[in-house]
Amino acid sequence: MNQIIDGKAIATNILRQLKEIVKTRKLSLTLATILANSNPVSMAYKKYKNIACKRVGIQCILFQPDSYKATKLIIRQNNDNPEITGIHIQLPLPANWQNWQINSIIQAIVPEKDVDCFSVHQIGKLFSHQREGAIASCTAVGIIWLLKKYCNSLVGKNVTIIGSSNIVGKPTAGMLLNEGCTVTICNIHTQDLKNYTSQADIIVSATGQPGLITPDMVKNGVIIIDAGIAFIDNKKIVGDVDSMTYQKASFYTPVPGGVGPMTTAMLIRNLLKCYLVQHEDPETKKMLDKIK
Ligand code: NAD
Repeated sequence: MNQIIDGKAIATNILRQLKEIVKTRKLSLTLATILANSNPVSMAYKKYKNIACKRVGIQCILFQPDSYKATKLIIRQNNDNPEITGIHIQLPLPANWQNWQINSIIQAIVPEKDVDCFSVHQIGKLFSHQREGAIASCTAVGIIWLLKKYCNSLVGKNVTIIGSSNIVGKPTAGMLLNEGCTVTICNIHTQDLKNYTSQADIIVSATGQPGLITPDMVKNGVIIIDAGIAFIDNKKIVGDVDSMTYQKASFYTPVPGGVGPMTTAMLIRNLLKCYLVQHEDPETKKMLDKIK
């Protein structure tokens, strides 16, 4: 009972295999990362992305635009630049931007460079289960990867997802539906959250609300995937799940060291997928498909 799902170790192993592919195939890949909002969580991601790129032998160029217009221009330039393999916008965008500006920025990335599945084109592929040229949300792929390692089969599992954002909750729900799960998605307006969490075989939480999930809300043997990240006193990273809850779980992801490292590893894997959408390279595809 209550075995830790060591996302950090699994992600390290994936990055090692990605490094091998980049080296063997002599790939020259570049990730453009756009940071328009430097909150602590975004800064932490910036650091992790940089470390992962370096580890694998990928160039990472950071852009820090100070306005909507500058951000749009940078995306256009990177879309048109053949040296850039993929583009990642670190969310959230500044809180004072209007919804239409946020949507316009998110949709500005061309689908073949969309490393984190922001475009409606890639989201459509995810929900209609089309694999050809598909690039799925990094966190969602990371979560499914962990679940597949620890569950014999996902078919028929009752999953409750808490948090319904376009980048975590909804794509994770789509992918779990594709795996044959029965999925319930909750959000801040959900009445009686416990009613949904207590029936779940698997709980995926992605809200950024520390201590949201407590032991009385889950059944014995549940699998807990905690994607939430919040900073306490600007220093300590915590997830959504009260640590006492782990005692009732069969498996759980810690925070830090669970979903976070997987997101970064999947971002690099997605960058290679972007490269494959842009180039005919069956040998690299074969190697990428074999990653465990
Ligand atoms: P978001 O703000 O876009 O969405 C938050 C979601 O949580 C919303 O659907 C909201 O309705 C729901 N929510 C908030 N409070 C709730 C409550 N009390 N009860 C039920 N639902 C509630 O955020 P996001 O971008 O999806 O990120 C969510 C969390 O996941 C954040 O902590 C973020 O840092 C983290 N995150 C982690 C990773 C990772 O790799 N581990 C990746 C992306 C995001």
